[in-house]
Amino acid sequence: MPDIDLMPSRTAPAPATGTGKPLSVKALRKTYGGVTAVDEVSMEIAAGEFVTFLGSSGSGKTTTLMMIAGFCEPDSGSIVVGGRDVTRLAPQKRGLGFVFQQYLLFPHMTVWENVAFPLQLRDIPKAELRRRVGETLEMAGLSAMARRRPRELSGGQQQRVALCRALVYRPPVILMDEPLGALDKKLRDQLQTEIKRIQQELGLTVIYVTHDQEEALVLSDRIAVMRDGLIDQFDTPQELFERPRTPFVADFLGAANFLPGRLEDQSAEHTLVRLDTGGLITARSQAVPDGARVRAAVQPGRLALCPPGDGFCTGTVETVTYVGTLVRVTVRPVGGAATELIRLELPAGRAPALGENVGLTADPANVSVFPDVLPDPESGG
Ligand code: ADP
Ligand code: MG
Repeated sequence: MPDIDLMPSRTAPAPATGTGKPLSVKALRKTYGGVTAVDEVSMEIAAGEFVTFLGSSGSGKTTTLMMIAGFCEPDSGSIVVGGRDVTRLAPQKRGLGFVFQQYLLFPHMTVWENVAFPLQLRDIPKAELRRRVGETLEMAGLSAMARRRPRELSGGQQQRVALCRALVYRPPVILMDEPLGALDKKLRDQLQTEIKRIQQELGLTVIYVTHDQEEALVLSDRIAVMRDGLIDQFDTPQELFERPRTPFVADFLGAANFLPGRLEDQSAEHTLVRLDTGGLITARSQAVPDGARVRAAVQPGRLALCPPGDGFCTGTVETVTYVGTLVRVTVRPVGGAATELIRLELPAGRAPALGENVGLTADPANVSVFPDVLPDPESGG
């Protein structure tokens, strides 16, 4: 895609300031031949929010972002920016900023000229332009490099220039597609912190795309977990962790253990599940069909050890692996037909011994229950 398309045009609208709803997307859909890239995506994003599309490769993140940006035409649905329907508008008329994985800087221009370009396009007076470019470079720690050309910069510095170029004219919404994907881990961590700091300082509205759970958690006010062109859940990181609405979300974000069993009782206070291993686990209150086969989901970090015989399950410690201040432990449960290991993450000081007989417990608030789609072993199905 040509660089010039990424630039705002002279006719770009003034940034919408103070609107409560900078972006609203309704029933967006896109198919390629027989492939449904985006099935149906709807969302409302508030001013100053940092929203992330999180999902594995091919889940429809980029296609959704490209439809919002205007580089990809939706089959159906609508996009409203700052109260204005932009669904059929050219990208440069939507007044959005973009930062992509490839830096797309002008190679023959200096850092200063690259960042000044969007303002020159909009005929910003010279003094104002100098002030804004200077401020933006300063904020990104690039002042000393203003005279260099892109090839004289590291990948991280180039990406910072690309970020400055998107920030300098203060678009109401900035779209970023895996902007740190090409950088090594240390640089990525550093730039994540900077992006978050700048976003908060300027009160920017950002839509960010990543397949990296940790990156999404560090950056986002809300995360849309995408799967097969649909949003499984759009929530705060805390909600996604504590109240995942689908097994996919529980697994993708929390790497949850799924313990098979049968619903025993439910009330306004709790849900009780009789596990296939024999024990009884208490989960938070959830609506599950009566008598149904279910899976109780609990994250490794939310499990604790207790004396054998107490808790929802007893088992033998099979592996103990130290990872910094944490220890990862697997336990083979005793009883029933279940053979799956249960994974725990404990503070390093609480590590059990290999082969030790332990009990497992969890706070009911951290246990989710999902109807099981697998056949019931007792019904012979
Ligand atoms: P993500 O960014 O989450 O990895 P994409 O939005 O790029 O996913 O792709 C979603 C699906 O749409 C994938 O199955 C992909 O192969 C398909 N797809 C994306 N762009 C095109 C295209 N231009 N032509 C055909 N199929 C496409
Ligand atoms: Mg993508």
